[in-house]
Amino acid sequence: MADLLVLWDVDYTLVSADGLGTRLYEVVFREMFGRELPAVAPKAGRTDRAIVGDTLALAGVSRAEVGPFLAALARVAADGAVPGPVRPMAGASGAVAALASAGIRQSVLTGNIRPLAALKLRRAGLGDDLDLDVGAYGDVHEVRAELVTVARRAAARAYGADFSGPATVLVGDTPLDVAAARATGARAVAVATGSYSAAELTAAGAEVVLPDLTDTARVLAAVTGAVTRPVDIGGRRIAPGPSSAASSSAGPPVPRWRSTGPPPRDGRGRR
Ligand SMILES: [Mg+2]
Repeated sequence: MADLLVLWDVDYTLVSADGLGTRLYEVVFREMFGRELPAVAPKAGRTDRAIVGDTLALAGVSRAEVGPFLAALARVAADGAVPGPVRPMAGASGAVAALASAGIRQSVLTGNIRPLAALKLRRAGLGDDLDLDVGAYGDVHEVRAELVTVARRAAARAYGADFSGPATVLVGDTPLDVAAARATGARAVAVATGSYSAAELTAAGAEVVLPDLTDTARVLAAVTGAVTRPVDIGGRRIAPGPSSAASSSAGPPVPRWRSTGPPPRDGRGRR
């Protein structure tokens, strides 16, 4: 298999951190400005740099404070003292391990700043197979797509391989994850475990939408969907299907590959 680079989104793709990020924002805001944080700007799919800018604006604070706020956030996250349970999303651990076994390079592409991503992954028991040094993080840019270039460059340097085009695969739970992939020629695999439905993620242009990460063979097939010949994955023969345009928002997502083996046995009626 040619070199593949899989870049995982963190929140609601690999982990559920249930407000840990918000608590850290509150701690830092109180520390810097001596009052309670009134509100946090919308977060889904966005980078910490963008979220902090809008959050400070909502609180009437100058955007000039974004840099110092991100620095304080990094310090508090690295310190790891703020409590907050983090759990892995269903199937995340097995999916990461399976991709690693298949020789696929893996890191993260996340709106989180690196210390916060590392904290969440550590608390969720994930990360052993993720090379965080080649990841791209939310302090770099407000626009998620810009992070793809950063990660590709880092991975090319680290591994001496070319990850341009669909050799890079983004896996995420929001239309912004999908948009970042599409804007950079990467392959977009979406997982409907966040606040967006499979139909919404399909409409955003994801090449494959998975209900979750529990079917490891399906995750592997989705990630390697650029293969042009049938492959055996986990005992199932996977044939690439015809390239299909994104379906309308009415129906379930249509994956580009189809299993010629028996249907999944999890009884959940998934495709
Ligand atoms: Mg996410």
